This record gives sequence, structure tokens and C-alpha cells, in this order.
Amino acid sequence: MPETTIETTSPTSADPTARQKAATRSAAFVRPVRTVAILGAVGALVAAIALPAFVSTSGAADAAPVTTEQLAAGNSQSIVVASEATQAPSTRGQFVATTPDEIEKRKAEEAAAARAAAAAASAASAATASSSRPSLAGMALVAPGSGAVRYPVTSFTPGEGPGSGRGHEGWDMIAPEGTPIYAAAAGTVTASAESIGGYGVSMMIMSNLNGTMVESRYGHMVYGSRMVEAGDQVSAGQLIGLVGNTGNSYGSHLHFEVRIGGSVIDPEPWLAANAG
Ligand SMILES: [Zn+2]
Repeated sequence: MPETTIETTSPTSADPTARQKAATRSAAFVRPVRTVAILGAVGALVAAIALPAFVSTSGAADAAPVTTEQLAAGNSQSIVVASEATQAPSTRGQFVATTPDEIEKRKAEEAAAARAAAAAASAASAATASSSRPSLAGMALVAPGSGAVRYPVTSFTPGEGPGSGRGHEGWDMIAPEGTPIYAAAAGTVTASAESIGGYGVSMMIMSNLNGTMVESRYGHMVYGSRMVEAGDQVSAGQLIGLVGNTGNSYGSHLHFEVRIGGSVIDPEPWLAANAG
């Protein structure tokens, strides 16, 4: 009867031949593992140098590091020599880059994540740190007038209104960056954020004007210039932000929208008739 050999990769096998084969196999794995580890280390180094802000803000991305040992644990065919596998940080996040294309892709992903994290951090600090807010020196904190409705910008060049046929739903009030923006009416801030779609830095206020619900929207403000948050109450003419060029905007202006009963109206004649 011919001898039957049952191959096993278990390092605890009693059969010395099998143990030797396993050792040989593991040696064959050492080189690619080391290559992966080095590539991973280089990628981590590049990221650490190029994206220092990412390190402190990417808790989610770094929360679940995967080592080559962990990867190997899921593959019983791969016996990783511990001393080789733990010499260098092998991967960042959950991605193991093995080809130039994959490394490029990973770097692009990390750069995108870093930009997002930096933007989020910037937004968070802008919301809490008044020092990052543009200077308000010499700026009127309340719009002129005494009426229930005020012009959101007091000095401006009239731009495009709603109904242009390309989905534009507001009135563009062209003014230099940093020009104060005032609440068009007293009410409750229903949204306020550093980025709301094409509006960019923007906010929305719901007002009750003699029983009519009027929503006003203010888009393209300067980053960090929002003075109020969702849930805040504002008075008519209260300073709420600064004219900017954020979001889907090509030139400094306030995109001012007014909706009555949920329907877009032309703010220009509405202000002309009601503001005072
Ligand atoms: Zn506009």
C-alpha cells in the first residue's frame, strides 16, 4: 500500500515533514508580507507628512487598524512569522496597498478624507471660536429701519431674480465680501450650517408675519460668519452673517430667497412693498 501523505499547515503537527513544509511555505510568505508592510509604511509616512491635520481628526478612519497578523488570522494557509509581521506599521485603515495604482487610489481617498475632516474641523471651530470669525469692527449690528421687514443687505447691486428658467429661486444681491446680512424679519432659525448644498454657508429663517408664514433663505455667506444657529430666535434686522462667495456662487453676493406658504416669490417687489 503506497504511503498516503496528508498535508497540513498546522505548525503543531507531530509530523516533522509536515512541519518543515509549513515552515517552507511560511518563508515564501514572508517576502510579500514584508513588501506589503513596507509599502504600507511608506504610504503612512507620506500621509503623515502631507496631511498632519488628518492624524488628529480621523478617529473613525484609524479606529480599526488591521495588521498583517490579523489579515493572516483569517487565512489559515498563511503563517506569518510574527517578528517579520510586526516590525513595521503595515497598513493604514483597512486597506492594504500592493500596486502603484492601489497606492495612488488610497492616497487620493486619504486626501479626500483629510479635506472633509479639515472642513468639518474648520466648521466646528468656526462655530465655537469667535476669534476665527471675520471682524465686525464698525459694522451696524442692526439694519436701519423699524419695520417688521428689512432689506437683508442695505447697500447692493441688484442681480438675477427667480424664474430665470434655470431653477434659480432667489434674488442675487451683489455686494462686497464681508457686507453685513440682516434677518429680513423676526422669526426662528430653522437651518444654519457651513454648507447646505449649493447655498454654501447659509441659513433659513421662518417668520410669522401677521399670520402668514414667510421663510427667508440666505446663501453664499463667508465661512465662519454665521451669527445664529438652528433653533435661535432672531429679531427683524438682526445681524446674522456676512456676504460671501461660498457654495454654488461665482462672485460675492447674497442669494436671498423668500417663500410664502412654501411657494417661491420674487423677493425684490416683496421687499420694495414691505421693507421699512
Ligand atoms: Zn442666487
